[in-house]
Order: sequence, then C-alpha cells, then structure tokens
Amino acid sequence: MDIILKNKTLEAALQDEASYLLERQKHTRYEIVGSPKEMRRVLILGAAFVITADKDNKVQVLPRRSIYIIDGVIKEVYAGSKIKIPRNKIDIIYDASKRSGIVVTPGFINAHAHPPMYLLRSSMTLDKGNIVDQVAKMAKLEAKMRGNDFFLGAVGDFTEEQKTGITTTLSHYAVFDPIEKAARLTRHNVINAFSVVSNTHPKNSPKLAEKYLKNKSKYFSRPALAIHYLHRASLEQLKQIKKLVDKYNVLFTMHAAETEVWVQECVNKFGQRTVEALADFGLANSNLILSHAVHLSEEEIRLVKKYKIGIVHLPTSNKIHKSGEFKYPLFVKNGGAGQVALGTDSVISKNSLDLLSEALQMRIMHQDRQLVLYEDLFKMMTSQAAEILKLGKVGRILPGYRADLAFWKLRDRGFMPYNEKQPVSLIGNMITHGGRHVRDLMINGEFIITNRLHNLINESKLMTELQEGHMRLRKRLGDK
Ligand SMILES: [Zn+2]
Repeated sequence: MDIILKNKTLEAALQDEASYLLERQKHTRYEIVGSPKEMRRVLILGAAFVITADKDNKVQVLPRRSIYIIDGVIKEVYAGSKIKIPRNKIDIIYDASKRSGIVVTPGFINAHAHPPMYLLRSSMTLDKGNIVDQVAKMAKLEAKMRGNDFFLGAVGDFTEEQKTGITTTLSHYAVFDPIEKAARLTRHNVINAFSVVSNTHPKNSPKLAEKYLKNKSKYFSRPALAIHYLHRASLEQLKQIKKLVDKYNVLFTMHAAETEVWVQECVNKFGQRTVEALADFGLANSNLILSHAVHLSEEEIRLVKKYKIGIVHLPTSNKIHKSGEFKYPLFVKNGGAGQVALGTDSVISKNSLDLLSEALQMRIMHQDRQLVLYEDLFKMMTSQAAEILKLGKVGRILPGYRADLAFWKLRDRGFMPYNEKQPVSLIGNMITHGGRHVRDLMINGEFIITNRLHNLINESKLMTELQEGHMRLRKRLGDK
C-alpha cells in the first residue's frame, strides 16, 4: 500500500497540497478585489478574442470582449477592456488583455468517453501487434480493476480532459459511484451513463439504474442509461429501459453499428438493422445517443434525422480499431449533420483526450468527399454538442449561459501567425495546431485550472497513484 494512503483516503490525498496554494501567490492575471469570502462574481477583462456560436448558431470571433459572471452564469458580454461593472460588485478580475491577451472559448463537450479505462493506458492499441489480440488483452487487464481503480482512472481522465479545454463529458461505463466521486472531486460536468447490461458487472440491471435516476438531485453528476451493444440486451431489458427513459426523461446511450459484424448480430437477433430495431422498440427519440454509428444504411440515417437521435462521431477510434468510415456525406445529404457531436472514447482508442485533434481527424477523414468547415467543427465541440446532450444553456458565451470557459494564450503556436483581417482564421489554426493545453479553465464559474496548474488535484501525486494502480493491475493479471 502506498504511503500516502496510510492516514488518508485516496480522495483526500489527491486534493492534498494542491499546487494552487503556491501558485496563487504568483498570480499576475488574477486580481482579488477586497477580501471576498467566495469568488462568486468574476470579471474576465478584455479578452483578445471570444469565439462562440451566437444565438442564431453562427460562429463569431469577437475582438476585445469582457465577460461578467455571477454564481456560475454569464451575466454580460460587452465590447472593450474597461471595468464597467462597479468594483464592489466584483470578487475577482481576470485580466485577459495583458501580454497579447487571451482567447476565450466555451469549454468543450466530449460526448463519449470511458473514464476508468485511463488506468489502462499502456495497453494502447497503437502498439505493435494485431489489434484484435490487443483489445482482448486490454479487456483482461480491465477485468482486474476493482475498488479505487475506477475512481482513480476517472480522475486521471477528467483532469486530462480539463487540461485540453473540455468541461463536460458523457461517461459510458459499468460503474456509477466511482464516476460520481471523481466528478465531484474534479468539479467536472459529467453525464454519468450507467451500463444496465454488463458482462464485467453482472449485477447491473435497469432496476439498479432506477435507484440512481430516482435520486438524481443528490448527485453531482447527471445520471443516464447505457448498454454496450444492442445485441447484448434482451427484449425484456429493452422494455425496462424504455420505461425508465420515458418515466425519468433521461439520456440513453450505446455503441451502435461500430462494425459490420455487430450490425449482423443485431439482424440475427432482432431481424432488423440497429436504428430500425430501436425505432421498433420505441427507443428512437432525442434521448437516444448513438456512438460510432459507422455502418448505418441511408434509410437508418433518415430515421436518425426523423427521430432527432444524437450521434457521436469518433474518427480516431474508428481508424485505430479499423471499424470503417462514418458516412458523414450521407448525414449532410439527409439533413442530419446538425445531430453530430464528437467524442474521445478512452485512452485505448485515442492518442490524447482532447477534441481539437479529434476535429482535425474528422476533417481529414472526410475531406475527399465532404469538406467539414472549421466553424462547423467548432460547433460540434460546443453549442451543437450541448443541444444533442440536452445540456440547456451551455456551450456558448452569451448572457444566461453557464460559465464553462476555456482560456487560451493568443501568443502561442496554436494560434500564431493568423490573419488579423480575418480573425476567423484563429478557429482553423486552433484545430490544425490542436491538442494543446489551456492556460486557465473555468467550470460553473469556478477556476479549476489557473496558470496551467490544476487547483483541485495534486497532479504529481496523481501520476504516482496512476502508475502504482496500473502495475497492481498487471500483477493481479500475473504479468511478469
Ligand atoms: Zn466507446
């Protein structure tokens, strides 16, 4: 057992000695006004640019904007870098104009992830060897996870996502409580989609999920339902799921048509292709989120459009696992492009947990047949994802919206050089030079990362814990 756990819970140890105590003394962009008990009222002063979809869903790159926030909600966005709000109504000022300034974007939204799998990073499938064997080996290692492992992996995952500007994640996994605990610790906005049918957790069931749905107001994360694949569920289980979706109006997600083999499994079991079967079961509606959705027929894509089903495109994962090519041009042709969000999947299926590189991957994957505009990719990571996941007023920098914000240094290779006469070029630069870390990050009006350091987690301790946790798994598996 590690030394740090002798006297404390893992949770307490991870919070301990958080680097912000030291760093706060060196703040230069932060000015605390007076001696407030809480930092409820925040003024982001004179950001070099604010990039956001507007109320008409057009992406804007707005120079010199200030943002006033109270209790986690954006109250005002105004032009200029003057303090127009009386100082007695401000607890903290973040100077976003200094030293070339800061670009502020909405926090990104990751529509598909398996956070505990972070602990399995060294089984990354880009390694040599056959992909099928590697996935099988990884699953054996995953089956050895227990106790704190799920929580530790999820903390590793959420904090890495936060560093790349992500503030909301849909987690699809077979455990609920460890995800809830990690979300609470990192203050990450999490849709906690609990697998009601699971090989690794045979006790999971729709009945167990109802316990979480009933008590949803008690949780920090937002409960939702999941199954791994459609063909693994029985008709009876699907009936129970439909009841829960209708009764509690919750999201229901699954891996859908990721490979041709799974489509065939579905046809063998239910006599229909994936989306057709879901429509028949009464599960096709705007609460349904299908990840991958690679092998859909054009008729199924029409059903996706008709029933307003949310789709999560995972181009890197599809490439690594040789799943096939998502039919984005057919989504465009059938008017369904507005229903597509992006996701990272787990560290087994992607290089780093960020969406900027995923957006670039999408653009490259489809460029021979369909140009995907940078502005459209930006919406897929922000406003459009928020709509698909029914997040309410999230994903835009407008009054009334939740203050989930990512702060990026302008004087950085990720942006410069850009065309000052066409600042929209910043979006293309950001995506093509993507995969970098934020300078600061705000979730629900609270700074989670300041001066590139996490405020809630001691990252060096986290690395040690993850490393030891990973080797414990290998030992349990009997690896030499
Ligand atoms: Zn997945």
